Amino acid sequence: MNKVGIVGAGQLGQMLGESAQAVDAECRFLDPADNPPAAQIGQVIKQAYDDADALAELADWADVITYEFENVPVAAVEAIADRVPVCPPPAALRNAQDRLHEKRLFESLDIPTSPFRNIESAADVDAAAAVLGLPLVFKTRRLGYDGKGQAVVRSADELAGLWSALGEVPLIAEQFVDFDREVSVIGSRSVSGEMVTWPLTENRHAGGILRVSVAPYDDAALLEAGTVYHRRMLEHLDYVGTMALEMFVVGDRLVANEFAPRVHNSGHWTIEGAVTSQFENHLRAVLDLPLGDTATRGHSVMVNLIGTMPDSLDAVAALGCVLHDYGKAPRPGRKLAHITAVAESAAARDRATDDLLALTGVR
Ligand code: AMP
Repeated sequence: MNKVGIVGAGQLGQMLGESAQAVDAECRFLDPADNPPAAQIGQVIKQAYDDADALAELADWADVITYEFENVPVAAVEAIADRVPVCPPPAALRNAQDRLHEKRLFESLDIPTSPFRNIESAADVDAAAAVLGLPLVFKTRRLGYDGKGQAVVRSADELAGLWSALGEVPLIAEQFVDFDREVSVIGSRSVSGEMVTWPLTENRHAGGILRVSVAPYDDAALLEAGTVYHRRMLEHLDYVGTMALEMFVVGDRLVANEFAPRVHNSGHWTIEGAVTSQFENHLRAVLDLPLGDTATRGHSVMVNLIGTMPDSLDAVAALGCVLHDYGKAPRPGRKLAHITAVAESAAARDRATDDLLALTGVR
């Protein structure tokens, strides 16, 4: 039995744990929360992510340590890296945790990204507007997610209060991208260097939070370009595991927005909609097993349930969809569950999408 220690026990950990059986693995988790989602399928050590004793206990038990969210303290995982392999490598975490490093990484690898500036003072805010022009998106360098810690500035008079509104913390300013759509490239790389990529996923956000993912998004040229960029990242970082690269589509070009050094919400459709899921291939990658086939099983749509659960789950079942309930208490803005439908054609998938959006009250 392969033993995988996972830092974090949220829904991503839960779904990693659910795919463990397929690779003859057992997962054990570290998370400070009371009754987190992954507690339904494995033992959770209830301690802070950077608790040295708890990390040591997990490292002593596990054959390999991985993580399911990117704000794990880098120093904490580095501290156990000499006793057990840590995958993905801490360098991937470090780059993903700071948007400035992330943008510089894209630049250094010739991966197109929107022009940006580092902001460390109110004066830098004005300088960025002067150099880059408006509209701009300001983002906190650290700890931003789901659109939090961000502001879009369209006119010069909005610049004045911005530094204090975002908390007087280091920021980046980046040019607003007038994109046609958002896609993610999701793929995995194993310890041996084997790489696979799923077909492109198209993502629709509302209020900065992912609402709907549709796959495959059929565009062979974009998939080829996205795969090249994704593999460049994997190889540069000597990455092991599943990674999501979120990109804007502008005409026939891709522009990188950010990457996640972990399994990703936009890849949840792969559980039902691909031969091998992003979760199973993450475990295969870190355990250095051959990676599974990423071919699709049909046309998939995944809808996130955010804040509240729908009144009628029977109707969801009647649509032939699969509900993944994370077992979390409802709270505004919280991802509680997702629903996936796999259809035989893109047209049938689009009809299922409309039905799901109506059922779940998502606009
Ligand atoms: P992020 O947290 O960087 O993924 O941003 C959340 C969402 O904000 C993205 O999915 C986009 O919809 C939007 N967004 C982020 N950066 C930009 C940008 N430079 N231009 C236009 N929209 C953006």
